[in-house]
Amino acid sequence: MDEQQDNSGLIREMMPCVRCGQCRSVCPVFSARGVESDAPRGKVALVRALLEGTIEPNAALIERIDQCLLCQTCVQDCPSGVRVDRIVIAARERIARQKGVPIRKKFLTRWLMPNLNRLRFFITLIAKLQGLIGSKVAAGSYRKPRYRIPITGKRLLPDLTGQTLHTLVQERPKTGKIDRKVMFFSGCMITYVNPGIGKAVLEVCERNHVDVVVPEEQVCCGLPSLAAGDRDTFEELRQQNLAVLMESGCDTIITACASCGSTLKEHYGQDLPMKIYDFSEFLSDHLKLDPLPKSVQKTATYHDPCHLRKAQKIKDQPRSLLKRVPGLSFQDVKDPDRCCGFGGTFSMSQEKLSQEINDTTVKQLIETGAEMVVTSCPGCMLHLANGLHRAGSTARVVHLAEVLAASCGEITEEEGEADIRYET
Ligand code: SF4
Ligand code: SF4
Repeated sequence: MDEQQDNSGLIREMMPCVRCGQCRSVCPVFSARGVESDAPRGKVALVRALLEGTIEPNAALIERIDQCLLCQTCVQDCPSGVRVDRIVIAARERIARQKGVPIRKKFLTRWLMPNLNRLRFFITLIAKLQGLIGSKVAAGSYRKPRYRIPITGKRLLPDLTGQTLHTLVQERPKTGKIDRKVMFFSGCMITYVNPGIGKAVLEVCERNHVDVVVPEEQVCCGLPSLAAGDRDTFEELRQQNLAVLMESGCDTIITACASCGSTLKEHYGQDLPMKIYDFSEFLSDHLKLDPLPKSVQKTATYHDPCHLRKAQKIKDQPRSLLKRVPGLSFQDVKDPDRCCGFGGTFSMSQEKLSQEINDTTVKQLIETGAEMVVTSCPGCMLHLANGLHRAGSTARVVHLAEVLAASCGEITEEEGEADIRYET
């Protein structure tokens, strides 16, 4: 398809926008900034003007197009079904073709994340040096940098164990009866940064007679590349992962990262021969879950990742799973539609704006009085932990899988009170 046809197709996608403004009231960027060109309909108008050649991709326009979390809150509320997120991605692709991908994004999305050897080396190096970077906070799960770090600034960083999910998987003996086998698409964060979440996923599944395979050859789902407008890198990653999915021999793929799940479901092809489920969706809708034997005597709330609630329409399953945990007291948040402000590389290129959006979300989470903020996306976890730390809260951020694994207990354990490990 040539560029002109490509542009006409995109303009057709924008035509249903009747400029009703419904999206303005829900967009986190607009509510933080209050400027029309930051609102979803303002972005649609800017992209249209760019494609029609009435404005140039100058620095101001690039900044506006960068100021989108791809959270899909506007899409959920748009009466005409305008996919503002897709329009923004398409605009970024056009800008990247003309101006190149910004260097900081390129480092992550083209140099680091697609290359498994580099990623492993980089994570091992950081794990060894992290003592120099900063001291542990939040009971050891995170580190507070002593100075500004390129790309991540002064935000908390996960405390790395130096292990990957693959090393944890190799150490695990397979026990118990197995009724079915699934593949776990673990994603970069769970594989290399938060392997404890992956281990929890395995424990819950095995406890419920599901064998989980975690192929080492899987690579980044490609969302960071897609969001940066780097379609070529995204396509390379997608092809590599498709080969891994096919070779797994599984008819079911599960994910525990909302962003990976939404990317696989939307961009890996509707005609995939296997089903893709979020962890909570799999447990709630496709498995007969055994009763959870151990109590978790905590108060908890749930943060909906945008890529789960809006992109995958999953909101009831995590809540119903939490309500099954004995002893756990659940308190829902006032506005569960609120984005955490992370948006992947958005939190790096739009650090101040990302923090402003996060502040309001965190305030609502604190107002619940919960001791634990449970969620289903490692990216949200990191950003929420930062916000809670900044606000002086002692609430802990945990993945849903970690709570369920604690309530399952070790297979040999007796009933009793569970201990949540808060591993990262
Ligand atoms: S809600 Fe949809 S139709 Fe209305 S202004 Fe926003 S994008 Fe356009
Ligand atoms: S995707 Fe999110 S940040 Fe982007 S325009 Fe829509 S509501 Fe705003």
